Amino acid sequence: MFDVIIIGGGLSGLAAAVQLSKDGAKVAIFEQAPRLGGRCYSYIDEKTGDVVDNGQHVLAGAYHNLLKYLDAIGTRHFLKNETSLSLLFHHPVKGRAKFELSSLPKPFHIVMGMLKYKLLSFQDRQKLLKVGLVLNGWNNELEKKLSTMTVDEWLVDMRQSEEARKNLWHPIAISIMNESPAKASAFLLARSLRATFLGQKSDSAILISTVGQSELYVNEAVNLLKIRGAKIFTSTEIEGIELLNGKAVGVRLKEHKLVKAKSIISTVPPYALRKIIPHSYKTEKPFCDLGRYEASPIISINLWFDSEFMDFDYIGLIDKNLQWIFNRRRLMNESKSGSYITTVISGAHKYIETSKEKLLDCAIAEIHEVFPNSRKAKLTSSIIIKEKRATFSATNIYERYRPGAETPIGNFYLAGDWTDTGLPATIEGAVVSGFHAAKLVT
Ligand SMILES: Cc1cc2nc3c(=O)[nH]c(=O)nc-3n(C[C@H](O)[C@H](O)[C@H](O)COP(=O)(O)OP(=O)(O)OC[C@H]3O[C@@H](n4cnc5c(N)ncnc54)[C@H](O)[C@@H]3O)c2cc1C
Repeated sequence: MFDVIIIGGGLSGLAAAVQLSKDGAKVAIFEQAPRLGGRCYSYIDEKTGDVVDNGQHVLAGAYHNLLKYLDAIGTRHFLKNETSLSLLFHHPVKGRAKFELSSLPKPFHIVMGMLKYKLLSFQDRQKLLKVGLVLNGWNNELEKKLSTMTVDEWLVDMRQSEEARKNLWHPIAISIMNESPAKASAFLLARSLRATFLGQKSDSAILISTVGQSELYVNEAVNLLKIRGAKIFTSTEIEGIELLNGKAVGVRLKEHKLVKAKSIISTVPPYALRKIIPHSYKTEKPFCDLGRYEASPIISINLWFDSEFMDFDYIGLIDKNLQWIFNRRRLMNESKSGSYITTVISGAHKYIETSKEKLLDCAIAEIHEVFPNSRKAKLTSSIIIKEKRATFSATNIYERYRPGAETPIGNFYLAGDWTDTGLPATIEGAVVSGFHAAKLVT
């Protein structure tokens, strides 16, 4: 008999377990995969000996709950901490330019950053200020309005020109939302921008791991949980929730084995949750809405070359199929020779069925355009990872159906980045939801 069973060992499950075990609860995690971390993991590539993530993750200083989690497991020092936002972009005609916040006190640091962004005309730069003003005047009326608009509709409403959308807002929005601006919720983007730019100055800093994701999020959490007596079962799928008199009494494993607990937290995505909900609850809210979930993919193309051609950490690409290129060698402070880079396509609906050969050709052609000296470098290895269900598709319609942590089954709670966190699908959202569910149980 456990105090709490957590179904799913992704970031939300780990965060809930770390919190609950700190408070002395007898916790068990059941994870169907052979490893923990869920949509956030890394492994060592045998051929190159390098750490490969299932997708490059970018974090922000505004991820306060995630930072609390990393402090708890003792791995925050693995983050490369920039003091303030500085995004380098490549434009096919205008070349490179940085969108960066200045060292002035807030809000002048943003104003100067906007006015100095060289990829826009001076008139367009001035109009960027309108976005800051709108976010600063946040109220219920604005929230309501944003809940009916897509990102693109909102940007047009704020008189952001096509150039401003293409050369600044779209690259930022697609990375935050993992969905095209024509579909993504303006409400969720606006909330994220507000948290990042209008909070403390450090909230806008980009934080990137200097180690693989499993080392950053998982390994030390497992050590801590074991010290605290938590039980972790990997390669163990939960097949159902067992009820008695309307209360959850435990979870069912293969061959009808029952494991009992006083409370249960599910952190699995909606399509997995649908399969384990007791039949008698399938038509009740929020469970009847689980079928509304739609996924949005991310493609990561990892490339190794025999020489180096990128002497900075990362760059955003405008008007290309690839959206970002990350210099893994530099980010991970490695002195090995040659290049190891990761390119990312978020909201990758239209590329997900494209063959890996075509994706590779396209990536190399675009890298040659962005870094002409890369033409001399020889490709020595490549790994393409397609995450079909990287995140939920963050639309206004889906936003209406995201459930809270409490369910009609009194001692059965929900967590996961797809629950009602007020955030797009992010690590911060996953951790917030895990902490919140843990609080409700205790
Ligand atoms: C390629 C990629 C790039 C990303 N980039 C970023 C980024 O830059 N910044 C950012 O903040 N976020 C990013 N994200 C999103 C972030 O990774 C997720 O929001 C977060 O990892 C979700 O965690 P979770 O615990 O909610 O869900 P999950 O990680 O999906 O965890 C749920 C777990 O439940 C398990 N499970 C399912 N069914 C069962 C069952 N029946 N029994 C037992 N276990 C079960 C699953 O195997 C899984 O491990 C990215 C995601 C991907 C895939």
